Order: sequence, then structure tokens, then C-alpha cells
Amino acid sequence: MDAFAQNNGHLAVSDARYINGLKLFIQAVTPLEYSIHRGYAHLGRQLGGAGLRIACQLQSLDELRHSQTATHALGNFNRFFNGMHHSVSWFDRLWYLAAPKSFIEDAFTAGPFEFLTAISFCFDGLLTNLMFVPFMSGAANNGDLATTAVGFSTQSDNARHMAVGLAAITFILQQDAGNAPIVQKWMDKWFWRGFRLLTLAAMMQDYMLPKRTMSWREAWEIYGESNGAALFKDLAQYGIREPKGWRDACAAKDHLSHQAWNLYYTYASVAAVHSWVPSDEEMAWLSEKYPQSFDQYYRPRLEYYQFLNQTGRRFYNHHLPMMCQTCQHPVIFTATEAPATLSHRQTRLNGEMYHFCSDPCRDIFVNEPEKYLQARIPVHQMHQGHCFKPEPDGRAADFDAKFDATFDAEFDATFDAEQALLAWGHITHGQDNLDFDGSPDQINFKDWGGNVEVEGAQS
Ligand code: ZN
Repeated sequence: MDAFAQNNGHLAVSDARYINGLKLFIQAVTPLEYSIHRGYAHLGRQLGGAGLRIACQLQSLDELRHSQTATHALGNFNRFFNGMHHSVSWFDRLWYLAAPKSFIEDAFTAGPFEFLTAISFCFDGLLTNLMFVPFMSGAANNGDLATTAVGFSTQSDNARHMAVGLAAITFILQQDAGNAPIVQKWMDKWFWRGFRLLTLAAMMQDYMLPKRTMSWREAWEIYGESNGAALFKDLAQYGIREPKGWRDACAAKDHLSHQAWNLYYTYASVAAVHSWVPSDEEMAWLSEKYPQSFDQYYRPRLEYYQFLNQTGRRFYNHHLPMMCQTCQHPVIFTATEAPATLSHRQTRLNGEMYHFCSDPCRDIFVNEPEKYLQARIPVHQMHQGHCFKPEPDGRAADFDAKFDATFDAEFDATFDAEQALLAWGHITHGQDNLDFDGSPDQINFKDWGGNVEVEGAQS
């Protein structure tokens, strides 16, 4: 709060677009940390050794503190901007938050040693630097010292969590050579689940920081590739190799943020976050940072959206996306060797077809089908009529026909499936959703004289 006040509050940020990264942070990351605090509290009760029990207790407290400091810091912005006020129920209800929610629920319904591998090793050890270091440097660069303070304070705890994770994994591996294949399977699974979770971080880094610092690609090379390579080298003596999916993740560094932004751009009518077409200057930065992919695959699409906007036809996708049965992310990712081909995969089980975003997600399902058969996939729930308030009645006989017919129709139809979904999800149409251009956030920030040169402010 002090950092917020010292930084002249909400007016010194670079641009009100920047706030949208914070919205995703409070919607996705903060509830995730709160859930991890619960996970460690459960885990501490299940472990007999005093050392690990204490480590779990401390990590549980750390995670609770992280969710509290983020809530306090971003609560200051919530007084001025839309898209933050319902973050707790959004985590439970909104389709795009099913990825983080299902990640943590999958972890704390696993056994204690799998949970340790999932969170302490794969998530804290391999992936949190990517969530908390480059974006927080970006926050400072965009004039937001309050969030920077939260992020760096969080990551200093995570450095300790990484040490615990590595110690725990090493201990398990040293007990019995037979543990190596079990731990390897958990690492394969949890590296990939964590990597899918980082789709959000990649997009925030490349598209949601109006003043750029480092690209997702550069961040991945430093915090993912070199850090991960060193870690797996240390563990090779126990028969551990890099996780399955590692090479796919490295190859995705040229594509991930662009594919994610396209999803959020086109589904902005049903998300509590704004999106926009990057400016020409921003596209030039993306070209420079992504010489192998941006101009070839992603610029033409953004320029087409720009053209549609200029003629008053902002594109919104009114079709429900197919979602992955494992990671619960929409199936938008492309094949490692063929960036223009979807990596959609399928498996048939007991007469039902299941869909996946990638080979690693399908493998996770095939290894534990009894767990992932039960997944609560948001889009399936919508089709079953479970994501609506009592009116309209999602279980009425004529609901399906109306739902299908009106999902493609104009936004203000008399029975509008999207409006019904927004009402159930507590998204206020015209405030929390749609394009940044013309949003109350944009208009207010301008009226308040935002991003003026304030004496003493970080510019
Ligand atoms: Zn998936």
C-alpha cells in the first residue's frame, strides 16, 4: 500500500491497458496461491518427518501471505478499474480460469509425494521464475511499484521453496532405485501441466505490458532453458531425464504468447479482461523479438483485425471453444514441427471421444483415465445447462435449440446465450469485457489525466 501511495497511485502507470495484466494476475495467480496454501496445510498433516512437516507449514504460510499481499496491492487498483471485483467467484466459474483451477485441484487430489513433485519441484523449481521475475520487472517499467514489491517478495520465498523441492526429490530418489520411474512420470506430467499454465504468463509478458522489457522468448531462454538444463543435469545421476514435453515447450517459445493473445482477443466478449490489437510500434517490437514467427504467422492476422476495426467490425468469436480434457485450456496450440497445424489429439474410451491440446496432455489422460474422466470442462457444463442462473432454465426442453441458435446471433438477441453466461459469471457486459478501445477503463484513465508526468514517479 505504501509502494502504491509513493508511486502516486493508479495514475502513474504507463497506460490503462497495463491494468489488464493485473486483472489476470488477481483472477488466476492469486487464487492459485491461496489454493497452494491449502495444499501444503493438508500435506503437512500427511508427512511423518519433522523437517518436511515444518517446511510444509512454512510454505503454507508463505502462500497465504502471497495471496494476501497481492490482494491488498491490487485492491488499490480495484477501486478505479473494472475486471477485478469478482476474482474469487471468477476463479470457480470462468472458462479461461479452468486451466489454473484444474491444475491445483489435480495437484492436491494426488498423493503427498506427487504433490511435492508437482508444486515444490516442477512448479516452484522450474516455472515460478517465469511467472514472477520478468513480469514484475515489466510492472516496474510500467510505473507500478506496488505490484513489483509483491512479485519480488513472493519470489524470494519461492527461492526457498525451490530448495525444499530439490531436497525432497533428491531424498525420494536416494531411498530406492525403483522410485526413479515413478518420479519421472510425475515430472513428465507436472512439468507439462505447469507449462500450460504459463500460457497466461507468456501473453501477459508480450502483449499486456505497454512498455516492453523482455520478450517471453528471452525469459524462457533464461529462466526455463538454462535453469532447467542445469537441474536435469544434476538429477541425471539418479536416472532422471528431462521431462517429456520439454522439447515441445522449448519449441513453443516462438508461438505461445501469440496464440494465447489470439484466443483472448477473439473471446473478449466472454472474459473479464480487455484485449486489443497491438499498435504498429508494438508489432515492430514483436517482429524484432520473434524473427522466426511473428511476421510469418501472427502479424497478418493482427493486421486483418486492425482492418476490421477500422471498418467498425471488431471480430468476436461467438462459438464455444473445444477444451482439452487434461489441462482444460482451449485447444489452440500448434504442432512442434508445423506451426500452422493444430496439435489436437483424441482418444476413445468406453465409447466416448476425449479431446486434447497436445500429445503430453493425452499421455497424462491415458496414464490416469479414471481421474480425468471426471474433469468438469466448462464448455461441456455450458452445453449441459449448468452455467446459468435460474432464468433462463438451462435444463428446459427447448434450451439446447435456443442455445445453439442464439450463440451465433447478434449480441442483443432476446434470448442470448452469451448474456446468460455473463450473468451467471458475474461479468458486467460493456464494463468488464470487450475491446479496450472504448472501455470505461480507457475513458476514465484519460479523464483522470493518467500517465501524466508526476514528480518523483517512476516513468
Ligand atoms: Zn491440454
